[in-house]
Amino acid sequence: MREFGFELALCAHLEAEETIVSRQLGTSCHGSRVMDIVSITPGPEFDDRRAITAETIPPLAIESDVGAGTATYWKHAFDCHPDRARDVVDAAVDCGFFERERHKSRTHVRQSVRYPDWYGTIRGIENKPDLDRPGDLETQLLTDIELGLLDEVVLATSSYVTGAHRNRIPDPVGIWRFDPDSGERTVVREPSRLPVSEPGIEITSRSSTRTEIEIATSDEIERQRRRVAERAYGKGWRTYDLPPCARIDPDGAGLPYCPWKERLVRPAEDCGDCCDGYEPADRPAVDPDTVRAERSAWEPEPAGRSRTQGSLDNYG
Ligand code: SF4
Repeated sequence: MREFGFELALCAHLEAEETIVSRQLGTSCHGSRVMDIVSITPGPEFDDRRAITAETIPPLAIESDVGAGTATYWKHAFDCHPDRARDVVDAAVDCGFFERERHKSRTHVRQSVRYPDWYGTIRGIENKPDLDRPGDLETQLLTDIELGLLDEVVLATSSYVTGAHRNRIPDPVGIWRFDPDSGERTVVREPSRLPVSEPGIEITSRSSTRTEIEIATSDEIERQRRRVAERAYGKGWRTYDLPPCARIDPDGAGLPYCPWKERLVRPAEDCGDCCDGYEPADRPAVDPDTVRAERSAWEPEPAGRSRTQGSLDNYG
């Protein structure tokens, strides 16, 4: 089983536990760390978040000075170029998070709903099906632990985990053994909770002779946690197109299983003329949003929000 198939099978397994699951998300403040899987448990106001939009609420809208009370002149509410602010306001109105009001010749905006406290535990999962080919694993996990942006960090593998492996994995990191064929997951070691409300130390590069770090403040970590959660909610994990091949046989979770190759495939790399088994056909009529809605708590079409306001191009 290749890493892509392992990752998708684990996403499908976690989604069945009613968490929000996404993959390949940036989880650093200053660096370029990308986490294989992020899973999020619902917080106390998860239903309020579901009711706003199926998409990612623009982070700059949440971080702006636009509140839910008095409407604010839009140009005064953003710490960025007005063109960028205009785009953010348009996107926030389109997704139902902002609403506009006319104050004389000026457009003011307010939150149409207070931003909810919607996410609980944010867990990062690094996949390493074959622990004998660890790559940068140790540095990656050390970066996650020292930064403390995610509540929990877990290493997922299909390998048998030896004592030598365990010794190379930082203590706070949990370890799962996962069989992508059976969907069976064994907790080898529970993760420890990380101190996410404290400042963190971010490793931005590391070699045998030199380690470069940056300090991440509590505010930066809180902001990035919210960005990760929002991105996960909007993005999900089915970010691939099923191939236009008669042989593809997606399962109930929409996983791209190919009977000809007898495994999950990565359509962008495995499928097409490069494959001897390719049989051109229409793509399977599987709608990833429909599958996601059926199998998780994500709400694709929240009701009751106004989407009637036009672009700021008409306003001052
Ligand atoms: S193109 Fe090849 S790998 Fe892709 S579904 Fe068809 S037979 Fe399978």
